[in-house]
Amino acid sequence: PPSIRKISEKYDKPFVTGCLEPQVNGPRANATFVVLARNKELDGVIQSMKSIERHFNRWFNYPYVFLNDGDFNSTFKETVLNHTSSKVEWGKISPEEWGFPDWVNPAVAREGIQKQGDAAIMYGGMESYHHMCRFYSGSQSFFYKHELLQKYEWYWRLEPEIKYFCDITYDPFQHMIRNKKTYGFTIAVKELRETVPNIFRYASAYKRMNNLTSKGLWEMFVEKPEEKPTDLPKSDPKYKKPLPEEILNSEPGTGALPDIDPEAMEGESYNMCHFWSNFEIASLDWFRSKEYNDFFELMDRSGGFWMERWGDAPIHSLAAGALLGPSDVHYFRDFGYRHTTIQHCPANAPIGRQLTRIPYLEKTTADEKKRIEEDEYWATPDPPKENGVGCRC
Ligand code: GDP
Ligand code: MN
Repeated sequence: PPSIRKISEKYDKPFVTGCLEPQVNGPRANATFVVLARNKELDGVIQSMKSIERHFNRWFNYPYVFLNDGDFNSTFKETVLNHTSSKVEWGKISPEEWGFPDWVNPAVAREGIQKQGDAAIMYGGMESYHHMCRFYSGSQSFFYKHELLQKYEWYWRLEPEIKYFCDITYDPFQHMIRNKKTYGFTIAVKELRETVPNIFRYASAYKRMNNLTSKGLWEMFVEKPEEKPTDLPKSDPKYKKPLPEEILNSEPGTGALPDIDPEAMEGESYNMCHFWSNFEIASLDWFRSKEYNDFFELMDRSGGFWMERWGDAPIHSLAAGALLGPSDVHYFRDFGYRHTTIQHCPANAPIGRQLTRIPYLEKTTADEKKRIEEDEYWATPDPPKENGVGCRC
């Protein structure tokens, strides 16, 4: 039987192995870093910039777009400019773009948020976090529709308090383009179940309503039947925008959202796996596509961004599952990356962890399956060792 490595290579192999001489004068993609941040996060932002500049951007010089629902102050701007020679643009997200949409009653939504706070759901009680997740997921304005991003085709998301361990000596955008990739990740983790109790019912309904058959990535997000939870709470209709007649009148089980019964989802439920979206290198054109925006609309109408605490990570991931195939997604297994408490270090990763488990499961041997399944986090919990291979270019 083929090894995991061989199977993985069939769909998605590393773009580059080893270190190259960075092409400081090579062609550049139409791409930018995107940083959403607040003034108080300046230290974390600078930490992230130092890391990405040192390990990549001092050679490649990609520009930055900073976005904020408030105004960046002059200290923030000056300090950022002192840490890069690239172009930097500053964008403001207007209150209409950031806050509740007009069809949501803020009092009702706030009550929902308060309840999540009372239930000690991580970030559940923090209104701004809900706005942030929705902003990064889609809408009238959202990050990919922001005027400063109109001119770009690709973005690389940066957050405060991240760290790159390895020199990145090639241009990932160029390789994404050359290899016809749409979405790139470096860590996938399990979501906290209580933040997304109903997300999968809606994502699944989107797929059914649009007669989408899996291109092979959806299976990554499906829990095996024996693990299926039985305690999914029903979503609360009072948070919802009324759905179009054709959806409301459709046959049960064909996408009538208010009546979606977890049992009617062909036995499928969410295994909580998602690409950790604080790192993303992805096509803005994909996010701007009709398909992605239809997906977002449907998810948004459900009210899940308020009555639950849907993150942009599972939203992006389930959209990818519904719309993309394994060969559209790239696992940047060669990027050493850390954000707060979770990291991926290529140097330390045992062999199975260097490979994405997603699309290949059904084609692997029992032994290989076991090894991959045990590797729940695709990221190593321990700190990187000194002299890591590939991380000391
Ligand atoms: P975590 O990584 O899930 O713990 O979430 P973060 O607090 O890091 O937020 C994710 C991203 O959104 C980071 O880039 C933050 O700087 C940014 N962010 C979160 N909340 C806000 C907000 O209220 N305003 C602005 N401007 N940025 C925010
Ligand atoms: Mn963060």
